[in-house]
Amino acid sequence: MPNTAVGGGRNTKILGIESSCDETAAAVVEDGSRLLATSLLSSAAIQAQYGGVVPEVAAREHAMAILPVVDWVLREAKVGLGDLDAIAVTQGPGLLGSLLVGVTFARTLGSALHLPVIGVHHLEAHLYANALEEPIRFPSLALLVSGGHTSLFLWEGHLALRQLGQTQDDAAGEAFDKGARILHMTYPGGPQIEKLAGLAQRKNLRLPVADMHGRLDFSFSGVKTATQALYDKHIQEPEEVAYALQDAVVRALIATVRRAWQQHPVKDLYLAGGVTANGAIREAFAHLGDSLGISIHIPPVSYCTDNAAMVAALGYYKWQAGDRMGPFEGPKVLFPLGQEGD
Ligand code: AMP
Ligand code: MG
Repeated sequence: MPNTAVGGGRNTKILGIESSCDETAAAVVEDGSRLLATSLLSSAAIQAQYGGVVPEVAAREHAMAILPVVDWVLREAKVGLGDLDAIAVTQGPGLLGSLLVGVTFARTLGSALHLPVIGVHHLEAHLYANALEEPIRFPSLALLVSGGHTSLFLWEGHLALRQLGQTQDDAAGEAFDKGARILHMTYPGGPQIEKLAGLAQRKNLRLPVADMHGRLDFSFSGVKTATQALYDKHIQEPEEVAYALQDAVVRALIATVRRAWQQHPVKDLYLAGGVTANGAIREAFAHLGDSLGISIHIPPVSYCTDNAAMVAALGYYKWQAGDRMGPFEGPKVLFPLGQEGD
């Protein structure tokens, strides 16, 4: 009999699988909060040779990594295939070839074991990295800052996100990655910009932040052009330019979130996505929390970037809600989240 149980089971074990970009990851999470084991293989070092993620290379690496990654995580968690209650997999958004590996693997395993397969939204999953720390408090604001997205949500309850704003062009992570390229550094640029910015002494160069005319959106394409112009003038001081870039991204994020809070004065703000690994961003939001008198929640650095624990955590709530992948559903390269009509 297929296991199609719906409800709030105890010790519900969900295998999470993530393969939307260049990281092949698996995790086992119990009841959406207790992480039993997690594993990850990244092709980032290979991609660095090309200056960015090459979709075909990423897909091939996923295909080679997925079995060992899942096998390892089950052994580490001391969980047999028969102990699993469901499989959650990132269904999108992401690179088609990469998503296909994870989704096909999950569906095949699910069908062999008669387990429900739950397709999850990658960005929503990022926010659920916070559920591994403590139960999420609603209503709250949620800011997702990653390599491909910068989106702000009102989080009204489990599986109930309402988008308030998003980037109109580049994502915050892209600003770091493109800025790093200008400064002759490799992909992914964020951690290297942060390191270089840490060496800045004068800290008096400034880059402009886009004026969003009161909207709750973001724009980072201008900062890239401005970084190039600033670097051309200050080529001997790359650390000061890196600091200015990081500072501009921080100011843009803080300004928009502050505006959002004035419209939605909630008590909690959740952050997620690879860019929130940045120390200056974490510090700036801690200060914002103090000044607004709200709690700021940011996952530990290792769960800010892509991982499968967040996929399994979100999978649990979708499992409880009876949400299953349809028999003919595949990856969703474009997958809107929290917009009107979703
Ligand atoms: P994600 O898309 O969530 O996997 O996150 C990847 C993005 O996060 C890339 O654009 C990275 O450059 C960026 N990133 C990772 N670590 C940092 C950091 N310490 N500072 C700024 N950006 C970072
Ligand atoms: Mg991601």
